[in-house]
Amino acid sequence: MRNFFQNLGYRFATFMYGRNGIDAFGKFLVIAALICTLLSNLPFLDVLYLVGTALMIYALFRCSSKNLYKRQQENMKYISASQKFKSYFALRKKMWQERNTHRYFKCSCGTHLRVPKGKGKIKIHCSKCGKDMIKNT
Ligand SMILES: [Zn+2]
Repeated sequence: MRNFFQNLGYRFATFMYGRNGIDAFGKFLVIAALICTLLSNLPFLDVLYLVGTALMIYALFRCSSKNLYKRQQENMKYISASQKFKSYFALRKKMWQERNTHRYFKCSCGTHLRVPKGKGKIKIHCSKCGKDMIKNT
C-alpha cells in the first residue's frame, strides 16, 4: 500500500509528460468555473452550475491535451485579449489620476492623445497617423 502511494507521483508525472498542463488560459478557466459554481447557489442562477461544470471539463481537457500547438494558439489568443482588457482599464485609471492636469483626446486612428489642461485652443498633432486637430483644452 505504501509503495502504491510512493509511485503515484511518478505515475502522474509520466501521465503528464508531453501534455499541455496548466497555462494562463487554463487558470482563467478554472477560476471562471469556480465563480460560476459559487454563483449557481443564488436563486434563479441554477444554469451557472452547468456552465461551471462545462468550463471545468474544458480546463481538464486542455490540461491533459497532447495537441500542444492548438493549446498554445488558444493561450496566445487569451493573453492578447486579456492584455487589451488590462490596457483599457490602465488607460482609464491614468485618465482619472491626471484629470486635473491633462486632457485626453481620441484621434480618428484610435490613438489617445494626452495634452496639458488649461492652454486654450491648441493644435494637436497625432504622432501615429500625422493628423492635426484643433481642440480646446
Ligand atoms: Zn491618429
